[in-house]
Amino acid sequence: MTILVTGGTGYIGSHTVVELHKLGQDVVILDNLSNSKLIVLDRIEQISGKRPLFIEADIRDAAALDSVFSEHDIKAVIHFAGLKAVGESVAEPLRYYDNNVAGSLRLLEAMSKAKVKNVIFSSSATVYGSPERLPIDEDCALRTTNPYGANKLQIEQMMGDLCVSDADWSVVALRYFNPVGAHESGLIGEDPKGIPNNLMPFITQVASGLRAELSVFGDDYDTPDGSGVRDYIHVVDLALGHVKALGLFTKAIGFNPINLGTGNGYSVLEMVKSFERVNEIKIPFNISPRRPGDIASCYAQPNKALTMMDWQASKGLDQMMKDAWHWQSNNPNGYE
Ligand code: NAD
Ligand code: UDP
Repeated sequence: MTILVTGGTGYIGSHTVVELHKLGQDVVILDNLSNSKLIVLDRIEQISGKRPLFIEADIRDAAALDSVFSEHDIKAVIHFAGLKAVGESVAEPLRYYDNNVAGSLRLLEAMSKAKVKNVIFSSSATVYGSPERLPIDEDCALRTTNPYGANKLQIEQMMGDLCVSDADWSVVALRYFNPVGAHESGLIGEDPKGIPNNLMPFITQVASGLRAELSVFGDDYDTPDGSGVRDYIHVVDLALGHVKALGLFTKAIGFNPINLGTGNGYSVLEMVKSFERVNEIKIPFNISPRRPGDIASCYAQPNKALTMMDWQASKGLDQMMKDAWHWQSNNPNGYE
């Protein structure tokens, strides 16, 4: 039995494939390489000693999906494939709805046809918008503030409706908080195109001299030091969360949203200090205006993951900083 991993050559997908291989699990990756490179397959093989089967295809291609399900004995799908840049989703909403929502619809149709009714979906804490309360539990109100967030919510709703229509479906929607870091080997990691939008790759690019200084977006939030607070989670912990979620299919039918976070919030300035201390590299920064659409604080109540699937994050901030820098310093231009 095989797991189909859509988006498996991407940042989180590649780390998850490594963890699946560690368990001896067979994997087929389907990815259109719109935001990843083939060399990732070599790196996965270097780490795990096993090369995943790879199919270059788009999740919107119904015929390609049908042939994957007919040629392989797929027992479950882990669905990472999607576009993920919030700003880009505001500028190009139709591209995002097509790729993310229509793409997920095509995938669910193909699964339904093939009678594969187990799926883990990469959702996001962005579905909580400006959170109703902190820490954020899965019952907090769902409200999104941009097309990317709306995509995630619509896909969740589509999956929820499917579960209502047919009790054989089991869906785990993992709502990630802020994934950072890289595999400890330094062979796979985050490879953003152009100027990074996210904090962690920006910090590592400043550390490597690719960028002069970090702009800290706002120091006047209602947080202990005024900068924004987020729940950063090591990508390997996140990957392990998917492995645990596979175990839910036999015991939890229906639609199950589960937060994957550590429960700890760190500010931008704390992140900078921690990186500097762990890696002994100075990060020059300036205080800039708030970034439009940002919220002050966002961190998880992660108890549901512990109770339902015996998962909790085990890697702390120091490890995240160390591994993020190890990846960046070994691969100054990403996978190029
Ligand atoms: P990523 O861009 O590194 O990986 C996504 C992969 O999907 C890429 O390899 C890309 O080529 C592929 N892809 C995109 N559209 C496709 C399509 N139509 N058909 C086939 N393949 C396609 O991103 P990531 O950080 O690994 O994120 C994985 C998932 O997790 C995404 O759905 C993302 O929205 C979600 N997520 C990410 C974060 C984060 O901060 N990284 C946070 C919350 C949720
Ligand atoms: N941030 C920052 N400078 C940057 C990028 C991000 O100060 O160059 C801040 C941002 O305002 C937020 C935190 O870092 O408070 C995390 O931002 P990121 O984009 O990584 O994640 P998200 O906004 O999705 O939580």
